[in-house]
Amino acid sequence: MPGDGHTVSCPFCEFEAGPRALHAHLGERHREAVVATADDGNARYEVTCPRCGERYRHAVRKGRRDPAFLTEFEREIQLVALDMLVNHLLAEHEQPAGQQTGE
Ligand SMILES: [Zn+2]
Ligand SMILES: [Zn+2]
Repeated sequence: MPGDGHTVSCPFCEFEAGPRALHAHLGERHREAVVATADDGNARYEVTCPRCGERYRHAVRKGRRDPAFLTEFEREIQLVALDMLVNHLLAEHEQPAGQQTGE
């Protein structure tokens, strides 16, 4: 998408695209980056940035113990978690065009 301003590199492979296209790419290719946990009865999704190790957690809903609940909402919540990862990549790992430091 020319003119969008930002190109984000996929932290898992060579793919590069605008934020929306990267989000779709993550949802297709790197869904396993989002890990479901349900310790202590509260379902959570976690996504870890492979570049810096920063971890984001998304609580699904308190008090839900039904494993079917996780399955049913899995895709939707994966997309939310991947969205957090894209935002993190934009904020922490991408520089505006023309300001590459070469690090
Ligand atoms: Zn990728
Ligand atoms: Zn990071």
